[in-house]
Amino acid sequence: MKTVNHWIGGKTVEGATGAYGPVYNPATGAQDTQVALASVDEVDAAVAAAKEAYRSWGTISLSRRTAILYKYRELLDAHRDEIAELITAEHGKVHSDALGEVARGLEIVELACGIAEKLKGELSTQVSTGVDVSSIRQPLGVVAGITPFNFPAMVPLWMFPVAIACGNTFVLKPSEKDPSASLRLAELASEAGLPDGVLNVVNGDKVAVDRLLEHPDVAAVSFVGSTPIAQYIQSKAVEHGKRVQALGGAKNHMLVLPDADLDFAADNAINAAYGSAGERCMAVSVVVAVGDAGDELVKKIADRAARLRIGPGNDPASEMGPLITKEHRDKVASYVHGAAAQGAEVVVDGTGYTVEGHENGFFIGVSLLDRVPPTADAYRDEIFGPVLCVVRAETYDEAIELINSSRWGNGTAIFTRDGGAARRFQLEVEAGMVGVNVPIPVPVGYHSFGGWKDSLFGDHHIYGNDGVHFYTRGKVVTTRWPEPSEEVGINLGFPKNH
Ligand code: NAD
Repeated sequence: MKTVNHWIGGKTVEGATGAYGPVYNPATGAQDTQVALASVDEVDAAVAAAKEAYRSWGTISLSRRTAILYKYRELLDAHRDEIAELITAEHGKVHSDALGEVARGLEIVELACGIAEKLKGELSTQVSTGVDVSSIRQPLGVVAGITPFNFPAMVPLWMFPVAIACGNTFVLKPSEKDPSASLRLAELASEAGLPDGVLNVVNGDKVAVDRLLEHPDVAAVSFVGSTPIAQYIQSKAVEHGKRVQALGGAKNHMLVLPDADLDFAADNAINAAYGSAGERCMAVSVVVAVGDAGDELVKKIADRAARLRIGPGNDPASEMGPLITKEHRDKVASYVHGAAAQGAEVVVDGTGYTVEGHENGFFIGVSLLDRVPPTADAYRDEIFGPVLCVVRAETYDEAIELINSSRWGNGTAIFTRDGGAARRFQLEVEAGMVGVNVPIPVPVGYHSFGGWKDSLFGDHHIYGNDGVHFYTRGKVVTTRWPEPSEEVGINLGFPKNH
């Protein structure tokens, strides 16, 4: 059995406690791997390595930082397939989808390569006679990232390239369900010339997370995961005096107006609802069909759903892979089983689906629920599986009221040919990321990613300018070089500019 250990101070460090967690291959259901679960002492060792590395990395020139990041970008590019294979083996998503995740992570490394432009600072000369003011941003020190299972490469890449480009050192605690990709990302960073201790990976569970949240030498915490844990992370990190950004769960609505191209909308609904088996925080999990769009749209989605090819992620013929664990698969199925009793129409029931030769894999088929009441569990909860709910609304106003009454506000989309309606939607909808005829509006690397309401706790979105801001703190320097003859004299009044 393969063992995934820690990466501390530029080398593999074996778990010292003998505590391991299981890592499954979701396509076979077999436990091929175990992951070391860090103790408090092991987390402390990683933070100590990061603290030591910060002494030189915090002041290393932008030019040297950038050279390493460019090299890292090239190495990641050359290892796309290998990283995608690691993702598929432990997460289950199909290879093409895993490659997409690596590509979106690479965008953030490219952003980090241009960090010199972002850290230029501001200078005002002669703000008062003989006085200049400059504003600069400096790194925080040791920062930590805690990441979810569903994007084992992309979400860590949302964080550490920006953090280290800004001059911080980093301790990553990846999901214990699929830890191998993170380790590989760290090894490649070392190969690119990143000094030992700048990027560390500790594997583990709540014990490791809690130690990072409490550790006095950790200045800031980035978290991505479910809403209850995001809330917990934010309050505990704040209690310990840390800067925190905690991105949570989602229930993303796609509003379809009657004037939309319904074939285009149906294709997009299928891709965004069932891609990665629905295990995306930006998955479309609710379609709100307005007016007479509903009947035809549901029929078109159901026709397409019946043709989807479900199988192991390493089979090029598969379009959708299994779910992450058996327990999660069974939980997802329970929402479909309970839907009819709560007033929904089950148009497609994907539960009980098996793949020949992979009977022990964590597979489930896709499900489509129509006329789902907003009181039903399938509407209210984040299912995080291939279950698409359709809700009917008479008017645009009714639809937007429904969307805005959701506790989440991650991503949302409108499908229409009416520019005026799309403009209204952009301004009125309560969500952090909006798509117009784009179902998964994940911002490119040079914009920032983040939701509203229960989808994000903290003031900063992640990567882009917000990421740079999060991983740096401001300093303002006011300077005066007096002429030899210049006299100030005694004046106890509050200084005025003149
Ligand atoms: P999760 O919240 O269970 O776990 C996330 C991380 O927190 C993991 O590293 C895990 O080890 C740790 N953790 C779990 N329980 C903990 C506890 N009690 N105390 C301390 N740490 C704990 O999330 P997941 O199941 O791995 O990922 C899926 C969730 O992440 C979904 O809700 C999804 O919407 C969300 N997500 C959100 C975004 C976003 O950008 N908003 C992106 C990806 C995933």
